[in-house]
Amino acid sequence: MHFLPDHIDDYAVKHSQPEPQLLQELTRETWQKVLAPVMLSGHYQGRVLSMISKLIRPLRILEIGTYTGYSALCLAEGMQAEGTLYTIDINEELYDFQRRYFDCSDFGNQIIQHTGNALEIIPKLEETFDLVFLDADKSNYPKYIETVLPKMNKGAVLLSDNVLWYGKVAEASKEKDTDTAALKQYNKMIHDHPQLESVLLPIRDGLTISRKI
Ligand code: SAH
Ligand code: CA
Repeated sequence: MHFLPDHIDDYAVKHSQPEPQLLQELTRETWQKVLAPVMLSGHYQGRVLSMISKLIRPLRILEIGTYTGYSALCLAEGMQAEGTLYTIDINEELYDFQRRYFDCSDFGNQIIQHTGNALEIIPKLEETFDLVFLDADKSNYPKYIETVLPKMNKGAVLLSDNVLWYGKVAEASKEKDTDTAALKQYNKMIHDHPQLESVLLPIRDGLTISRKI
């Protein structure tokens, strides 16, 4: 999803860090073997996630929605040397694919995979986090706020992806479009939330950065 005219978008990508080799290979194999490859974060968004993580230097990262591991590897680039990234996906068929790429990276033994419904797994996690990336089932985004907030340290950052949903959140609602309705509700909730300060960046499909006060 590009909101910018193509030539401006191309220019922005060309003047951003190149995509690491391993992530290029991961992308190729995802397109060959896995359903719905458009869900991949991709080169530009991946570099944004990497940069944000490097600025935060988190000790512990939580990712909700691993898919083939692209965004996990980008976020891991910024974590501290003794840091850990926990990533959750409901689709068990992706587990071995993710693990192969994690093990080819510098972060293999710092990435812990969980398989199952993130809404059930997160309350059971004992750790607290400095950085959270929310990128799973859009219809449940509103439920993730209160699930994830108690697990976030003071000053921790929540990154929420696809918050513009192809621009549909800014249009009048269609009755049966539950994902758009959920995202509209989510955007309002994080905007109004007393424990969060947020800025919605119109990057790719919309990425909100929220900081826990
Ligand atoms: N973050 C990835 C893309 C994630 S796509 C990237 O940027 O490359 C969304 C993923 O969320 C899918 O793999 C899907 O299986 C997973 N998902 C959907 N509902 C979920 C749930 N309730 N709990 C955990 N994962 C879920
Ligand atoms: Ca996404």
